[in-house]
Amino acid sequence: MDLINYQATPIQKMSENQNNNTFFIKRDDLFPVSFGGNKARKALLFFEDLTSEKSDCVVTYGSSRSNHCRVIANIAASKGMSCYIISPSESSDPTSNSTMIELFGAFVTLCPVSKVSITIDSKMKELKEKGYKPYFIQGGGHGEIGTQSYVNAYEEIRDYEKVTGMYFDYIFLTTGTGTTQAGLVCGKTLHGDEREIIGISNARKNPYGSQVVLDSVNSYLLNKNEVPLGSEAVSFIDNYILDGYGSHNDEIKQTIRSILINDGIPMDATYTGKAFWGMKEYIYKNDITRKNILFIHTGGTPLFFDNLEDLKNER
Ligand SMILES: *Cc1c(COP(=O)(O)O)cnc(C)c1O
Repeated sequence: MDLINYQATPIQKMSENQNNNTFFIKRDDLFPVSFGGNKARKALLFFEDLTSEKSDCVVTYGSSRSNHCRVIANIAASKGMSCYIISPSESSDPTSNSTMIELFGAFVTLCPVSKVSITIDSKMKELKEKGYKPYFIQGGGHGEIGTQSYVNAYEEIRDYEKVTGMYFDYIFLTTGTGTTQAGLVCGKTLHGDEREIIGISNARKNPYGSQVVLDSVNSYLLNKNEVPLGSEAVSFIDNYILDGYGSHNDEIKQTIRSILINDGIPMDATYTGKAFWGMKEYIYKNDITRKNILFIHTGGTPLFFDNLEDLKNER
């Protein structure tokens, strides 16, 4: 697996034209490693770090639906490296991702969600005692390195603007641990750009959700000797989480169907499709018109196939 040579992911115009806005999408779902997505973009940098640390196996955390665990297990397998995944027994139903994780030969340890951090610690200790040098990656690829990968994506967006002469007034994305959003906000801050970056939460509520993003932003900026930002620097919108992680409604399904038909782009009901719907609600509510809007497609293609049967049904 060639993890170094990749070009910027494509940015393309969409058929959506709500409120006379022009919509574009950055296809990070086409990031060319293991079905792409933000977890693949983050993983690339984690494995660079793992290699420079001379680690020989990897430990991470996530549910059976986790895009992150699928990507990490895939890259580890391509390197002939053992991968250990700690997974909450509460959400261990088989999915496309968990099937691939199995196929990649990752070792999955199930435990109750309350025992996760203790189980990670004991797995790390066990591996070290056996003479291995394990590398730990936080769930979702959270942390400074994950943030860096979206500072890089922000640079790609600026390069696109330079080449085309256009400017995105808004960047929208679905946000979970907030690492992806934090990277984009850091990129914007380093350049002193004015545009708005709006995270549509897929699970977390404020004030916690936005605080985690701000903490990631400021830990990155402080490391670069930059001035830390105040809470107004982070737009973390928690109005569209419905009943929490994974919860969705018919309007989200309709949004996904219409984007699939009109643009040929797959989205899912937990992350991208839910956020695209939330973005449109937000645009309507805030009467945003005649702007250039960029939506980041953060991936999750295997989840699209998990949801496909459900998408067929009108209700
Ligand atoms: C994990 C994930 C997110 C959330 O990314 P964060 O950096 O944790 O906010 C968004 N979209 C998809 C498809 C994901 O798998």
